[in-house]
Amino acid sequence: MATYPKVKRNVLLNPGPATTTDTVKYAQVVPDICPREKEFGQIMKDMGEDLVKIVHGDLDKYTAVLFTGSGTINIDSTVSSLVPEGKKILVLDNGAYSGRAAEVAQYYHMDYIDLKLPITEPIDVAKAEEAIKSDPDIAVVYCCHHETGTGILNPIREIGAVAHKYDKIFVVDTTSTYAMIPIDMDKDNLDFVMASAQKGLMSMTGLSYVVGNTAMIEASKNNPTRSYYTNLFMQYDFIKNKGEMHFTPPVQTVYATKQAIKEYWEVGEQAKWERHQSVWEALYKGLDKLGFKTIIPREWQSKLVISVLYPDDPNFDFQTFHDYLYARGFTIYPGKVSDMPTFRLCALGTITPADIEDFFVVVEQAMKDLKIQVPCVYK
Ligand SMILES: *Cc1c(COP(=O)(O)O)cnc(C)c1O
Repeated sequence: MATYPKVKRNVLLNPGPATTTDTVKYAQVVPDICPREKEFGQIMKDMGEDLVKIVHGDLDKYTAVLFTGSGTINIDSTVSSLVPEGKKILVLDNGAYSGRAAEVAQYYHMDYIDLKLPITEPIDVAKAEEAIKSDPDIAVVYCCHHETGTGILNPIREIGAVAHKYDKIFVVDTTSTYAMIPIDMDKDNLDFVMASAQKGLMSMTGLSYVVGNTAMIEASKNNPTRSYYTNLFMQYDFIKNKGEMHFTPPVQTVYATKQAIKEYWEVGEQAKWERHQSVWEALYKGLDKLGFKTIIPREWQSKLVISVLYPDDPNFDFQTFHDYLYARGFTIYPGKVSDMPTFRLCALGTITPADIEDFFVVVEQAMKDLKIQVPCVYK
């Protein structure tokens, strides 16, 4: 590969897109190519297989269906495609991302149950079972693995066991865990998972994918078609028979993702997960030192996202604080815990504990310059 200049490195502590390697950035610089060429089709085919293998899926049983779009396109696709005529989807809703699935069902005028659960706790499996049992018309059970809005990790393996006990299709939004927390399709009792290339894989935006049970995708052919662009069977069938995406793929993001997957295999699942956790620990170390309070008990967290409570300090203004950090190469992100005043720090991307130590040097300086009390004050 040609040598290119180093790109300015920003440490993104937002929940995706994530900080990427320069090798992934530069993998996008390729000769122009029409994505209908065989050469490109082979890249897509290999990529689809890798995307299944990352979640330990058997290629005889599971398939990856790729879409051009942000991660929400997967929610749109699974919710609109997998529910048979006259049946319902049950959404186990404990945050903004699972809530989005209920919204999709609403927009498609589908029959759905939005089971609203406390957003500051993991899903209670007994409550999930009660809801699954209560209505024989439920065909699909849906939840989010890691509610990126709060940082809560849900017990998907246990929920999946219950969903399968009652013979339901189990769909999980794994957008903010895929290629970070190890996932195993069979052991975790999953039928469908989903993600987007710019999160755990640390690639670019615009490529999203559902990994799912092939027989279930084929059976979904008979379901009402509620969407055109995001219909799961149609996209699957096209990829299978024509070896290419139905409509224009995000060509450069595909090249970046090919490189990102190569780097994923080189690092390895366990080592990568350990690095993310070490970043989370470094974040907590810095927060604890400055007296910041967080809202979710640590044992319930994904170890990928921390929701931090604003200090009760008249000089703390999120936007000013954000802008100060942003100007120095660090991006923090607003919170999403209903109306609680929080911001988020995330451990996605190619960042290390050393980056977090640098970050807290800047945070301390920000607090000094903006006259925010250290340690933080809370009423
Ligand atoms: C990021 C994310 C999505 C997708 O969001 P987009 O803005 O559409 O990329 C979906 N679910 C979860 C849990 C996420 O973290």
